[in-house]
Amino acid sequence: MKFTETKLRKEIQNAIKKAGYEEMTPIQEKAIPVVLDGNDILACAQTGTGKTAAFALPVLHKLAPDRKPNPRALILTPTRELAMQIFDNCKKYGRYMKLYSACVYGGAPQKPQIRKLEKGCDILIATPGRLLDFVSREIIDLSDVEIFVLDEADRMLDMGFIPDIRKVESLIAKDRQTLMFSATMPKQIEQLALDLLDNPVDVRVAATSSPADTVEQRLCFVGRDDKVKLLVDYLNREEVLKSIVFTRTKYGADKLVKQLNRKGIKALAIHGNKSQGQRKDALDRFRSGNIKVLVATDVASRGIDIPKISHVFNYELPDEAESYIHRIGRAGRAGENGIAISMCSPDEVEVLAEVEKLLERQIEEEETQWSVPVTRLKKNGRNKKYNKQNNRGNKNYKSRTNKPKNSQNRAAKYESKKSHDGKSKNNGHNNGKNSNYRKGNKSRSNIKNNHSNKKKANIA
Ligand code: AMP
Repeated sequence: MKFTETKLRKEIQNAIKKAGYEEMTPIQEKAIPVVLDGNDILACAQTGTGKTAAFALPVLHKLAPDRKPNPRALILTPTRELAMQIFDNCKKYGRYMKLYSACVYGGAPQKPQIRKLEKGCDILIATPGRLLDFVSREIIDLSDVEIFVLDEADRMLDMGFIPDIRKVESLIAKDRQTLMFSATMPKQIEQLALDLLDNPVDVRVAATSSPADTVEQRLCFVGRDDKVKLLVDYLNREEVLKSIVFTRTKYGADKLVKQLNRKGIKALAIHGNKSQGQRKDALDRFRSGNIKVLVATDVASRGIDIPKISHVFNYELPDEAESYIHRIGRAGRAGENGIAISMCSPDEVEVLAEVEKLLERQIEEEETQWSVPVTRLKKNGRNKKYNKQNNRGNKNYKSRTNKPKNSQNRAAKYESKKSHDGKSKNNGHNNGKNSNYRKGNKSRSNIKNNHSNKKKANIA
């Protein structure tokens, strides 16, 4: 579907055209009309699918007519990189509109941010800590917020931001519109959605935890001491144009940069101990092609949107299997092809097993001159699903793309929330599968009671 077929205003259409977009991505196709119609939304979309535009475009559209001194849209996001990127996107998509955006995040001087806020803004993009700090000092007033966007909710969970999110939410009017985006949908996020959203439309464009299918995944078993040699060998190959190398620790990232520099490979590190200026400089130089290798910890695995990253190297596997999905999502963005190569040493087979359990398949092994024999572990009987097909071949993949497994269950919960509040934002515009999610009528208290009965039964 083309953007021109939507109700988005002309100024936004022109900005989209200038950005070079024509066709909507699947998440945009599903989310934009729903948001324009005023519904809350719970969107599950993998990284690199165009989800920023999926919320930014309708937000710009809805804010357009009038102005107020305080922000009318709040976009909450976990990392400063992501905040800056959303800020840039809002400016890009709103270039022909008289709307102002401001961006606040920690790890950077406060004064310039405060000066910008004093000029007033329509859209505020923020990380939770700095936002709450400014709110407590009455630098920011959230009372006029009409649209609340929660981006990368699962990452917020990983970073311990859920109490902050609840605090922020309590400061915003209840009759707002809320849009929640998450790459994965763990239980706690479903619970948060239940608490924050009002009868949301559930939009999913890919299986939970499925990596972008434009990324080819490979695996090398290699001894820890040979990893640098293997990495250097890859980085010197012609086809490796621009790559991110992930390490587990900040120390490891710095050490690896030095090792690569010694081998004549220009690289910079980006991680939580670097100042905001250093992080921005590294990203700018990487983006412009001045350096071809960026060594990063997981702080950078979300939020970096740099086109044409040909390769992602997992120099070390991540502590959490979910991070693997986000790391490899840095390559192959917006339909481009990318390759993710994981270097697994014998002491990392446990993590590898977790990753493969999450993927529900084995990653194909690539032999190298440094290959070592490794016995893969098998996790929790999931191995019957292991095969060497790509995700398209996974029988769970397609079937889950349009309809979540627990849709009826979730529908029951949301429906009950609607009846609790005594209002619904469903104004008849949700046809087809979305409306399925609202058919249940089990009340929330019933769910709770069932749960506690079960608990009692267990104790008995
Ligand atoms: P995101 O998932 O929001 O980080 O977006 C990933 C990349 O896709 C960004 O570089 C966007 O500029 C690009 N993008 C978003 N929507 C479209 C579209 N409809 N057509 C082409 N590229 C897009």
